[in-house]
Amino acid sequence: PSRSEITYFGAGPAGLPTSVLEKAAEALVDFGSQGLGLAEISHRSALATSIINEAKADLASFLDIPDDYDVIFMASGGTGQFAATAYNFVGSWVARKHKEIVGDSNDPKLIQQLKETVDKDLKLDYIITGGWSQKASAEAQRLFGEEHVNIVADSRKSNNGIYGSIPDESTWNLSRDSALVYYCSNETVHGVEFQEFPKSLAPGPDGKGPIVVADMSSDILSKKIPIRNFSAIFFGAQKNLGTAGITVVVIRKSLLSPALPQPSAALMRQLGLPIPPIILEYDTIAKNNSLYNTLSIFDVYIAGQVLKKLLQTYPNKVEGQQAVSQKKADLIYGALDAYPEVYKVFPEKTVRSRMNICFRVTKGGDTDAAEKAFLDQSTALGLTGLKGHRSVGGVRASSYNSISLEGAEKLVKFINDFATS
Ligand code: PLP
Repeated sequence: PSRSEITYFGAGPAGLPTSVLEKAAEALVDFGSQGLGLAEISHRSALATSIINEAKADLASFLDIPDDYDVIFMASGGTGQFAATAYNFVGSWVARKHKEIVGDSNDPKLIQQLKETVDKDLKLDYIITGGWSQKASAEAQRLFGEEHVNIVADSRKSNNGIYGSIPDESTWNLSRDSALVYYCSNETVHGVEFQEFPKSLAPGPDGKGPIVVADMSSDILSKKIPIRNFSAIFFGAQKNLGTAGITVVVIRKSLLSPALPQPSAALMRQLGLPIPPIILEYDTIAKNNSLYNTLSIFDVYIAGQVLKKLLQTYPNKVEGQQAVSQKKADLIYGALDAYPEVYKVFPEKTVRSRMNICFRVTKGGDTDAAEKAFLDQSTALGLTGLKGHRSVGGVRASSYNSISLEGAEKLVKFINDFATS
């Protein structure tokens, strides 16, 4: 089939608007009448900088990112950010403790005291609600040791080892003064989404709260975010923003130089702590406006074009997009819930993801056969990419920003037809 005949519900990379790809395809061959395409121009050129700055400004506008936050582009992938968040926020924690305990002194006893504080008090807090937050916590354990990683909650514990819920906040075991509290706002594989910012992580009346870091790889640009509640947010571009190849980090400037430089490599070594490869160090990337090393300007350009399209489509910016996401999810879940003998949504109702709608097809009692029939028939109708993640099976309809309301309605019609056929 041709592009116009299909609606692609794949979980990532996701589909992109055809108009953006057509423009990008032209730009790949010739950009700005220089006889060069966009993947060929220097990342040191003024053109590259203007593409970066425009994408940053449009992202800030769409999401209402305040001036005291920076936006950086990295090549790390979401998985690279599992390491980057741990490294950088441990660095910031050590820098703060160093100021408190050692200050300007050279006294080796104070360094020893700092080391004891690290050994005893350094904690990285993780809230596990699905495979991606679990992987992030495992990376922190690999880099810093299990003794420094605190699992605040794990949704498998109260649910027979299966993901599909968010543990009640009253059961969360948060550390005092942790280097970061990490969560994944939308678990792409398990279809679990935080419906709002967790109350126990909210800043107090003085504006101070824990260092909160969130992976928003699969729900960014689909809902309004209280940016100021976060120290950092990251997301790979490949689901809601653009092509795989760039990862975006939104970070509070007071955690970067000059306010809070990272500790020296020598100090970290004395403390027995690892330091990040330079390309994962936020401070270095931010100081260089994301151009410390070669960045894929082509991928930034595509993300920038998607943002321009979003800004044109939604005068009220992300709130407009949020309303559409909600409507699509309500329609799809509504259709699934209408036939309880045919479909079973995995996660609990209160935590259902608007972006990754995960369900089993149980029609006729033979789930494998029913799911095969569902996938074969939907594919034949141009509804593609619906197979669930290999680790959980079933069906997953990813309703990212590139899925139009009409696309979701086509799926809804099929869900109804399949149930009643
Ligand atoms: N975090 C979430 C929520 C994801 O959905 C994914 C990928 O699907 C990742 C992280 C990993 O991203 P990457 O493949 O860019 O490393």
